[in-house]
Amino acid sequence: MGGNSLSKNKSGGVASTFFLFCALAVSVVFCVQLLNKPNPDDQFEELPFEAWSSKDFSHGDIILFIGRTEPLANPCEGIHWASDDPQIANVDEDGNVTGLSVGDVTITAWNESGLFAARWLVKVRKTAYLTIDDRLNKNTDLILDALRDKGVKATFFLCMDKRSSVFYLYERIKNEGHAIGNHTANHSKKDLATEYFLKDLQRMDDFLESEHGISTRFMRFPGGSSGKGRSKNHTKKILLDDGWYTMVDWTATVGDSAKKTSYSSVMTNLKRTCKDDTEIILMHNTRVSAKALPDIIDYLREEGYEFARIDDAPQVFVFGKGWLDNKNMREREYLPDVF
Ligand SMILES: [Zn+2]
Repeated sequence: MGGNSLSKNKSGGVASTFFLFCALAVSVVFCVQLLNKPNPDDQFEELPFEAWSSKDFSHGDIILFIGRTEPLANPCEGIHWASDDPQIANVDEDGNVTGLSVGDVTITAWNESGLFAARWLVKVRKTAYLTIDDRLNKNTDLILDALRDKGVKATFFLCMDKRSSVFYLYERIKNEGHAIGNHTANHSKKDLATEYFLKDLQRMDDFLESEHGISTRFMRFPGGSSGKGRSKNHTKKILLDDGWYTMVDWTATVGDSAKKTSYSSVMTNLKRTCKDDTEIILMHNTRVSAKALPDIIDYLREEGYEFARIDDAPQVFVFGKGWLDNKNMREREYLPDVF
């Protein structure tokens, strides 16, 4: 995987036709029960977050879908579908569920003979994607501790650092289940020639692969994909057209780039910029953000957000483009084969 990423096989990505994208990035919980008749009074039992990485499903399991909906395995003919609240989530004739607004909804499937019915509790939730940028340092340990203690997975956009003192941090990020993106080797914000920029991206790819066995298909421009005094539009277009990387900017920020950022301004920026049901939040490996992170997580949870990695997002945000389909979304097997 250390070769030329930009010419890699484009068909290697997620088969995006496999599912519908949500209008919102939503968390959807499916509860599966096989019934002879749908019974609205049945209780759904919630399982812990980890349930959705399990492939050993049994009836009654709950599978948490972060940021997307999913068609059922082996949909067969003669099955009818209904949502009890199409304002929250609707379902099409093939069983594809699309979350539309925050809330809970029951999806029911049944066949004509009445011998079969299945029901899913779908919870559509707000989703926050925490993204932590730039070179690793001693604050990264605190950030990783807070994420671990709070049970949150995040995304790190990393630059190249060959110091032995930070080697273990790349490993920690990888081993603790966070997503990793390419933030270029040198983090140069200069108006770079396309060739140089692409080479810097490639160097980072090679570094991650050779030093840490990490392969990523997500990238973020240093400073974002648009900015004052920079003309990256050509490079940006190449990357958007190429299909290998998914480019990710952000929709919210804690504003921790400035040298003297206070805890209170971090919290103020967070509250000011996190307004929508889906937010990609920019942070850095700063002392102030490391210290504020437990409160950042608590605040977002109080506001109803759940957390997910960027590779679980159905769509990602790019400056000047808006929300684009995430062509490198993780493929997983979520659903028990009920048909
Ligand atoms: Zn950066």
